[in-house]
Amino acid sequence: MMYRNWVEISLAQVRANYDELKRAAGVEICAVVKADAYRHGAERVASALEAHGARWFAVSNTEEGVKLRQAGINGHIIVMGDFLPFEQEALRDYSLTPVIHSLSRLRDYQRFAAQQPSGDWPVHVKLDTGMGRLGVRTAIQQVIDALRDCAPLRFEGLTTHFAAASDFDSPQTPNQIARFEHGLTALQVAGLTPAMVHMSSSAPVVFGLKQAFGTMVRPGISLYGYGLHGSPSAPAAQATVKPALTWNARILEIRDMPAGAAVGYNARWHAPCASRIGVIACGYADGIPHQLSCKGHAVVAGQLVPFVGAVSMDLITLDLTSVPQAQCGGTATLIGPGYDAEDMAREAGVISYSVLCGLGNRVARVYLD
Ligand SMILES: *Cc1c(COP(=O)(O)O)cnc(C)c1O
Repeated sequence: MMYRNWVEISLAQVRANYDELKRAAGVEICAVVKADAYRHGAERVASALEAHGARWFAVSNTEEGVKLRQAGINGHIIVMGDFLPFEQEALRDYSLTPVIHSLSRLRDYQRFAAQQPSGDWPVHVKLDTGMGRLGVRTAIQQVIDALRDCAPLRFEGLTTHFAAASDFDSPQTPNQIARFEHGLTALQVAGLTPAMVHMSSSAPVVFGLKQAFGTMVRPGISLYGYGLHGSPSAPAAQATVKPALTWNARILEIRDMPAGAAVGYNARWHAPCASRIGVIACGYADGIPHQLSCKGHAVVAGQLVPFVGAVSMDLITLDLTSVPQAQCGGTATLIGPGYDAEDMAREAGVISYSVLCGLGNRVARVYLD
């Protein structure tokens, strides 16, 4: 099968990244496979990791968790992004572990669980230690009271999420760790000791922030080989992870354009001299940021070449004047060695996460084992 626009995902590289993060953290890894594993394909990634020994997975919502169960994942699946009353049945039917973000939600779920004939009802409670988004913000004594009386729910985990984990030039993370430790200690003193304690996304693991490891860490972006850039005083990265995904699209046409010819919507680019313009089979519908109009780069025949003209929905145009060996039907690498998602994000003024999550459904996915 030939493709016009496809990503190749190395499951071997995802496994290698997982091993590397596990080595660096020295604690349990909860593989974050939300948003379709940052568009690497949640079912394939989670299946590959489970076969490799992974026991914990995290998704954002119930629907993502259900899909993983239906794909045969047996490990723990944590639903991080809250749930609504109509999702409680699915949590039950698919043995998903919700993160609880408020005491009223805890009581709702407790009431629901109490009406069921039987079952194990693990929950992880998230403390809002400074992210200011989701998470329990009530006084810890009220949390203690609620958890003492939460049967049949089982308080399995305590968690929080950092707002600025790769910023080592701000007190945000140390402050959040201190608030979390305060809550955890109070719970332990009250005899409520969760088996799983987890705070860290990729950045604390990558940069070796041991105080934030708890008994489990939750890396996402680093499993896919990114997230190695911190603020100026960030320590050197302690984990060597590499991108698992490369993105190629075909060169549909190569046109010789005379000096002065306009290219693309709104004629944003005019050939400064006689130029060879390659028309590539991908556009913003596939996830090329529109902000890369006249600004992005791709790799053709090993050379970095510039985007010219606007990024269209289905096409981009490249200046191939300096690559005489480029041919129709050949490939342009949008993300790969020499120009990765981080480079694309930087040029577009966005973040590598949004570049990866922006990969469109129309882009075929090919898995390499
Ligand atoms: C997305 C997410 C993670 C993973 O973050 P990365 O920066 O991709 O490693 C961890 N925890 C929570 C709560 C998240 O939402």
